[in-house]
Amino acid sequence: MPKITEGVYYIPGQDEFMAGSHAYVVGKPSSQNLSLIDAGLTGKGDYKIQSIQEAGIDLSWIKRIIMTHTHLDHIGCLAEIQKQLPWAELWIHQLEADLLEQGDERAVYGMEMFRGFCEEQFGLKPGAFKFKVNRKLKGGEALDIGETVWEVIHIPGHSLGSIGLYHRPMKILIPGDVVYADYAIGRFDLYGADGSELKKSLMRLAELEVNILLPGHNQIVKSLPKGYILKTAKQWEPYLR
Ligand SMILES: [Zn+2]
Ligand SMILES: [Zn+2]
Repeated sequence: MPKITEGVYYIPGQDEFMAGSHAYVVGKPSSQNLSLIDAGLTGKGDYKIQSIQEAGIDLSWIKRIIMTHTHLDHIGCLAEIQKQLPWAELWIHQLEADLLEQGDERAVYGMEMFRGFCEEQFGLKPGAFKFKVNRKLKGGEALDIGETVWEVIHIPGHSLGSIGLYHRPMKILIPGDVVYADYAIGRFDLYGADGSELKKSLMRLAELEVNILLPGHNQIVKSLPKGYILKTAKQWEPYLR
């Protein structure tokens, strides 16, 4: 599990026939108060747990799991991880938390066709993604976790309850699937997605100074060019309506 900087670790997603999301561990290990950001695809729970342990982090230090959003490639192995961290709280944006508590899986699969495919591929049953959420985020919170402060920014458009986590002192952004490296952005054709909302979210992120971009997939970027998110938003603008 590579270390990005003091208090931020990276667990790369593993891509097989479907891409699993990256996960991050934030918080200073000395605080023994860490957060796991995102889980990953179904079947990847053991890999994530092993990666954490191999970095010398005691599982008991992981106090909570915060989801950037609840698509299957991020939440698929959440239950597997919860089995090994039964004490860990679950924090999700309210809009997707409410769905999960009701057992409404539309925000997990995004489209009916994909649900059928995944249920068959992974042997998932309807109702597999019903979770109790301990803290429902709204955006605007400053989370003081493990001696690092992360601002929660609600950035809908890829999904209803997508959030970004921003560490202002180090200029680190964890944007989930809203913006990636190589001028790519998250898809906006799934349940709850909206191109014009995604544009607004990108413009909101463009106001932040970001040096380190830690997205949900593909490359991470350690020295992001100035104006990168604005440039990305502008390139996609004709499609985001
Ligand atoms: Zn994803
Ligand atoms: Zn997604």
